[in-house]
Amino acid sequence: MSLRIVVTVKYVPDATGDRHFADDLTVDRDDVDGLLSELDEYAVEQALQIADEADDAEITVLTVGPEDAKDALRKALSMGADKAIHVEDDDLHGTDAIGTSLVLAKAIEKAGYDLVISGMASTDGTMGVVPALLAERLGVPQVTLLSEVSVEDGVVKGRRDGDSASEQLEASLPAVVSVTDQSGEARYPSFKGIMAAKKKPVQSWDLEDLEIEADEVGLEGAWTKVDSATERPARTAGTIVKDEGEGGKQLAEFLAGQKFI
Ligand SMILES: Cc1cc2nc3c(=O)[nH]c(=O)nc-3n(C[C@H](O)[C@H](O)[C@H](O)COP(=O)(O)OP(=O)(O)OC[C@H]3O[C@@H](n4cnc5c(N)ncnc54)[C@H](O)[C@@H]3O)c2cc1C
Repeated sequence: MSLRIVVTVKYVPDATGDRHFADDLTVDRDDVDGLLSELDEYAVEQALQIADEADDAEITVLTVGPEDAKDALRKALSMGADKAIHVEDDDLHGTDAIGTSLVLAKAIEKAGYDLVISGMASTDGTMGVVPALLAERLGVPQVTLLSEVSVEDGVVKGRRDGDSASEQLEASLPAVVSVTDQSGEARYPSFKGIMAAKKKPVQSWDLEDLEIEADEVGLEGAWTKVDSATERPARTAGTIVKDEGEGGKQLAEFLAGQKFI
């Protein structure tokens, strides 16, 4: 039977762009370009490698995000994923990590899966909690933060590197794993891959399709709340130390003044 892999991929605001909060203190997503979270490219790469090793496998990439989040799906499809699911609904505005995990879990259940692969964290929210929340909601084992991952005979195995030791972990499928940025360089989409991606199926679901009530998600259903936010102060000009014999001393005094030494 085919190994069904679902990779959760997030469309994130470009970190190099100027980002702002909207009046309701959510991120103003219309104001900045977005892209596939770089850390999710590693998840797509590991899915492709596992599929290469399997007799028969199918990779579905899944995102919860606004209309433009299709760009993230297209990138993952052009890397080699087989099909995509986009969950989009106006009522998702303001959904927090708990709500996002609910939507992802319902979509994963509806799609059918043996293995879910997530990134270690998104590059915008960077909470690193969604994979664990997903495993709990789906009622399956979680093997998180893997820098090496493989699947054999219905078991997912991997290595988690800690500060002082590496652990070898395994879980029977179905399971949720997350992979780190040490799991292996993500491939660039080839021209052929980009052209092929245009013809791959992208399914769109809304909250009704997933039998989720509007008040379970969005700002209303959120368990977390942003009370206030302030713009980061503009960068000030740096201090230039001219070395006229006393440069070293002046540098040390500057660093001591800033409490760096
Ligand atoms: C339109 C919209 C508005 C939102 N507004 C808010 C808001 O106001 N406040 C708020 O707290 N959150 C909001 N969110 C949700 C937020 O962007 C995060 O998706 C959520 O809080 C998870 O946190 P994180 O990104 O830190 O997850 P992490 O736990 O860091 O993510 C780990 C992994 O989970 C997967 N993942 C996470 N999010 C998604 C996703 N959306 N789709 C697919 N895979 C995913 C990825 O594989 C990722 O690598 C909004 C989301 C959307 C789509």
